[in-house]
Amino acid sequence: MLFKDVVGQMPIKDHLISMVSEDRISHAQLFTGPSGAGLMPMALAFAQYVNCHNPGPDDSCGVCPSCKKMAKLIHPDFHFVFPIMKRGNEKSPVCADYLNEWREFVLQSPYFTVHEWFSFLNAEKSQGMIYTQEGNEIIKRLSLKNFEGRYKIMVVWQPEKMHNSAANKLLKILEEPPARTLFLLVSDYPVGILPTILSRTQQLKIPRIDDASMTKGLMDAFMVSEEEAHTVARISGGDFIRARDIVGNSEEKQFFNQMFVNFMRYSYKGQLDEISRWVEQLSALPKERLKNILLYCIAILRESYIANFDIAELVYATPAENDFIGKFKPFVNDRNVEMMVEEFSLALSHIEQNGNTRLVLFDMAIKISSWFRISNKLV
Ligand SMILES: [Zn+2]
Repeated sequence: MLFKDVVGQMPIKDHLISMVSEDRISHAQLFTGPSGAGLMPMALAFAQYVNCHNPGPDDSCGVCPSCKKMAKLIHPDFHFVFPIMKRGNEKSPVCADYLNEWREFVLQSPYFTVHEWFSFLNAEKSQGMIYTQEGNEIIKRLSLKNFEGRYKIMVVWQPEKMHNSAANKLLKILEEPPARTLFLLVSDYPVGILPTILSRTQQLKIPRIDDASMTKGLMDAFMVSEEEAHTVARISGGDFIRARDIVGNSEEKQFFNQMFVNFMRYSYKGQLDEISRWVEQLSALPKERLKNILLYCIAILRESYIANFDIAELVYATPAENDFIGKFKPFVNDRNVEMMVEEFSLALSHIEQNGNTRLVLFDMAIKISSWFRISNKLV
C-alpha cells in the first residue's frame, strides 16, 4: 500500500516519513483512532515505506522487490496477528490457518471493520479472539532471522482481543525486542489493551479525515460527482468506512432526511406518542446505520443554523434538503442549536459505548423536543 492511497492524513504521513528518514523508528507503535480514519491503511503504507529499497520523499517507490511483495502482503518479513474464531474442534486456532483469507480480505480494501472481517469468514456472529497458542507463534515467527527486509514487521490488529497468555508473551517480546523488529499495533479501542502493553508503545492518534480530503477520496474511489462526494463527506464524520456505506445510496440519504424531518415535526407539534414510536423505529436499526442517522441529524442542524446567515457557499446540502432547510431554519437559533447538536453527539457516544440504545435515544429525544418547543416559544 502506498501513502498516496491512504485518504487524507497528510500530517500523519509526514510524521511517519520523517521518522524513517531520520532513522528514529520506535520499535512498538500503536495506531489508534476510529477505524474509518484509516488505521490499517496507514500501518500498511508505513510498513511498506520502512522496507522499501528506494523510498522517495513522500512515498515508497512501489516497484522494488520489497514493495511488490509488501503490496501483495507476501513479504517473508511481514507478519500479521488478528482476531479469528474456532472453526471446528481445535482448542487454540492460530492466524496462520487464516492467512490466505486474511490476505484476500485486506487486499479487497484496507478500510474495514471487525464485523466485515467475520462476515467475510461467514461467521457474522463471532466476536473473534487472538487465542493462547498465538503467543508461541509470535515468538516463533520473530525468532527467524530477517529474510530480506530491513525490518521484520508485525502488524497486530485489535490487540485488545488477545487472550491474556498471548498478550503476556507479546509483552515479553516488547520488553526485549529482537533487533530490527517493528511492531505496529492497530486498535480503535485502546482502553481494552493490557496497560503494560500500552505503556510499551508509542501512541499515534489518527484523527478523523478532513472534509476536503474525504471529498477527493470519495471522488477517486467511487467516481461520484463533487457534489455527491461533498454531501457524503459532511455526514460521514471523517470516517471513510461510514462514507463508503452511504455513497451512491440516495435512498439511504432520503431515509436519513425523512427520519430527521419526522422527528422535528413531532417535536414541533409536541407529539410524545409519535416521538416514542420514532425512538422504537430507530432502536430497531443496526447500530452502524443508527449512528449514521445521528451524524446526519447533526450535519443538517448545523447547516440549517448557518443558512440563517445567508452564507450560501457554506451550505452543502442537496436540492431536496435545501428546500427543507429553507423552511426549517427560522426555528434553529442561538438559543437551541448548540444544545441540540450536543444531545445528538452525546447519544452517539453513549451508543458507541454500548449504552442501552432505546433509553439513550428516548432521553435524547425528550430533551431535544422539549427544548426545541421552549426555545421557539411553542409552549
Ligand atoms: Zn520500493
